[in-house]
Amino acid sequence: MTDSYDVVVIGGGVMGCATLHYLAKMGVTNSLLLERDTLAAGSTGRSMTILRNHYSNAITTRMAQESRNVIADFESETGHPGGFVNTGYVFLVIPGQEEALRANVALQNEHGVDSRAMTSEEAAAQWPEINFESVAAVAFEPDSGYADSSAVTNGFALSAREAGAEVRLGVNVTGIVLNRGRAVGVETDQGHINAGAIVLTAGPWIPEFLHSVGAPLPLTWVRHQVVKLHRPLNKIPTHPIIADTSNGISFRPDAGDLTLIGIREDPTDRDTYNQSVDPSCAADSLEYLVNRYPAFDEAGWDGGWSGLFTVTPDHHPIIDRVPGIDNLVVGAGFSGHGFKLSPTIGRGLAELAMHGKSTSIDMSVLRFTRFADDDLLSSAYGASVFA
Ligand SMILES: Cc1cc2nc3c(=O)[nH]c(=O)nc-3n(C[C@H](O)[C@H](O)[C@H](O)COP(=O)(O)OP(=O)(O)OC[C@H]3O[C@@H](n4cnc5c(N)ncnc54)[C@H](O)[C@@H]3O)c2cc1C
Repeated sequence: MTDSYDVVVIGGGVMGCATLHYLAKMGVTNSLLLERDTLAAGSTGRSMTILRNHYSNAITTRMAQESRNVIADFESETGHPGGFVNTGYVFLVIPGQEEALRANVALQNEHGVDSRAMTSEEAAAQWPEINFESVAAVAFEPDSGYADSSAVTNGFALSAREAGAEVRLGVNVTGIVLNRGRAVGVETDQGHINAGAIVLTAGPWIPEFLHSVGAPLPLTWVRHQVVKLHRPLNKIPTHPIIADTSNGISFRPDAGDLTLIGIREDPTDRDTYNQSVDPSCAADSLEYLVNRYPAFDEAGWDGGWSGLFTVTPDHHPIIDRVPGIDNLVVGAGFSGHGFKLSPTIGRGLAELAMHGKSTSIDMSVLRFTRFADDDLLSSAYGASVFA
């Protein structure tokens, strides 16, 4: 007999697992997540997992704020730890971006986020160990931090499974089956499965599915490198997360004496890209860091990794039903900021699958058709990872 589920979720990254969790919370437990590899095998497992609130639009500000609160107290949401570490977030902008920074901080404050605009002199007084040369203004978020991508992804999946949902690993979904304008099931390398609704969260591998149902989206990929350093603990026991619009670099502390630096966005081939770090990139990161934070002059490089950002033309995601196929929902194009938004996005995708719209937060500005309509979202710092 063919298996049948109310909802089938394709892809076990943080978005698919969050969706399964929120479906279960809505009482929908006859649901199945299919993952061809292991959970968090895609972009999720390569994430820097930074949670910050500095965004240019109300929708992302609100999603970031609500999501941060869920991840910071993840055990209350799922019964499992999420590994949140509160470091604070220091955001640096170049001359010409001061007004934009202040407007964003005001937006964050309107949404109840503790975010503070500072001059570079005020920031230098607070963090004398940091060199604020060439920085025009600073935004500081004391409540921001980072979490554990594996813990959060598995925590969402575990809580859904405890409620009765099913997760199958090692199952490759090969197609979406349509009948009279509705999605009725999926083909897999292990047979057909019937579905009342389908949520597509296959990360960088979404385009083929959308092409096959005649609804393409402008999605591309860039390679982002994460350089791993050992810092001298006697000189730098820890440090806040620091992000810099002058070069797109972010860096954060990790366990022990580790510091991670996220650098570069280079167009790449999704399936054959180099998953390690370029030595030239490690050298550039160290040079930048020693200038920005001189005590890193004794830091040592210890490898790292690369991962994929899946990007849309405005660096904002698509959270919507596929036009003309009401029961096929897609969550795509999360750029370098999907992890931090995953709780609210998972909840929105679950609501779209069951109610046809995202009810907790109105996500209609992230609609599927905005590219065709030439109605893109704008950002204070241009279309970038800092959207
Ligand atoms: C280097 C790097 C640093 C980042 N840093 C941050 C950060 O600091 N903060 C932040 O918020 N975000 C960050 N991000 C972004 C964030 O990690 C992503 O936006 C998020 O993880 C996307 O999750 P996803 O579930 O949509 O996709 P993915 O994690 O890619 O999951 C998709 C899953 O679908 C599966 N799949 C694909 N095709 C099939 C198929 N045919 N059948 C079955 N399964 C399939 C894949 O195996 C994969 O597990 C970073 C990303 C990278 C790469």
